[in-house]
Amino acid sequence: MQNNTVLIIGGGASGLAAAIVAAQGGQRVTVLERGDRVGKKLLATGNGRCNLANTGAPAYFGDAAFAAEVLRQMPVSQVLRFFHALGLPTREDPSARVYPGCNQAAAVLDLLRAQLEALGVRVITQAEVRALKRTEKVWRAETGQGSFTADRVLVCCGGLAAPKLGAANAYSLLTDLGCRLIPTSPALSPLETEKAPLKGLSGLRLPATVTLCDGKRPVDAAQGEILFADYGVSGVCAMQMARAAGELLRRRREPMLYIDFSPTLALEENRMRRIPARDPLYNRENVRQWLAGRPLGDPLLGALPRVLRERLRAAGGDMAELLCAYPLRVTGVKGYDQAQVTAGGIDCADFDPATLMHRRLPGLHACGEILNVDGDCGGFNLMFAFATGILAGRASV
Ligand SMILES: Cc1cc2nc3c(=O)[nH]c(=O)nc-3n(C[C@H](O)[C@H](O)[C@H](O)COP(=O)(O)OP(=O)(O)OC[C@H]3O[C@@H](n4cnc5c(N)ncnc54)[C@H](O)[C@@H]3O)c2cc1C
Repeated sequence: MQNNTVLIIGGGASGLAAAIVAAQGGQRVTVLERGDRVGKKLLATGNGRCNLANTGAPAYFGDAAFAAEVLRQMPVSQVLRFFHALGLPTREDPSARVYPGCNQAAAVLDLLRAQLEALGVRVITQAEVRALKRTEKVWRAETGQGSFTADRVLVCCGGLAAPKLGAANAYSLLTDLGCRLIPTSPALSPLETEKAPLKGLSGLRLPATVTLCDGKRPVDAAQGEILFADYGVSGVCAMQMARAAGELLRRRREPMLYIDFSPTLALEENRMRRIPARDPLYNRENVRQWLAGRPLGDPLLGALPRVLRERLRAAGGDMAELLCAYPLRVTGVKGYDQAQVTAGGIDCADFDPATLMHRRLPGLHACGEILNVDGDCGGFNLMFAFATGILAGRASV
């Protein structure tokens, strides 16, 4: 039996940030990680570049008001200050996404690990916490490597997205203590669609705007890159539709995705962002005029890849409508194995957004994706994980 002041369950983004801040404040900190190393998911973020924050308007779902309050307490400038103080230069791209200066997720993890070591934080890997209890005024975490006790425990176990990168179902640690679990589903995940309209397009990557409709009613839209696959579509703008598409499918509605190729035709901006839901035919007149002004007999020549030209012609019908509202019936959302984040999770109502401490269970904190908060692509999820970890680590001091 060992005694620690602060016990951190989960060595991911939120857990590592919390461990550093608590240890900087002089606490004795132990991190219990079920995997064979900490920060495995962090290495895969941002395609290996780690999009660690976003300086734009917060874009959160689930307990969005809670997320906003967390970020009021710990704004992006302070999250970045945490990294700068550790020695990590960062840079912001034109769409407000923040990356490490060297564009390497591995550099972020190396720095966090070096800091843990310098501060004397004990990191115990292959130590999955199976139960968490409060006994005699201390918190006790049970693992295959024995019991660990502490005055304070931070549950930083993440959600269900990307099990290959270490995600595991740890909600019961908190639900067994009376916390409420809001039903979970994969978010930021590729969409499965009907197959015929995809024929020949697999592997094609283009800038586009997508609109998700519930029947004829537009419900969500985003700009960015779309990537065609044999099962459906991925790419940032399609993945941002997963949350709403999954919701429609669960309600047995018929979600339709309309692809507007105007950004490929340089008729609309090519930015990665969510936009207000709009009529899928929003750009029809622009596209019509553009088609009329094309110099050669084949108006699509030079503007679209050959496979897409052929597909649009094979589809038949009004070319302006096909170019601005190419329809795909959504049949499913890829599961947690391909999702980047989990929608749903532990209800934030019981937690104080300034400290991430449970309102009735002193010394119990929950941070990061295990909570019922999910963000858009663009650094919002890591920013929430780091911000909650820093706040909880600070509250431990
Ligand atoms: C491929 C991919 C790319 C992504 N890219 C970005 C990006 O660029 N920007 C962005 O903002 N977000 C990105 N995300 C999302 C982001 O990585 C997560 O939201 C974030 O890591 C959540 O941090 P966390 O600390 O809550 O959980 P995690 O980072 O998932 O860490 C949880 C840790 O807890 C451990 N654990 C779980 N259960 C137990 C247990 N019972 N006992 C002990 N340990 C346990 C896990 O092994 C894991 O190490 C990406 C996600 C994926 C899958």
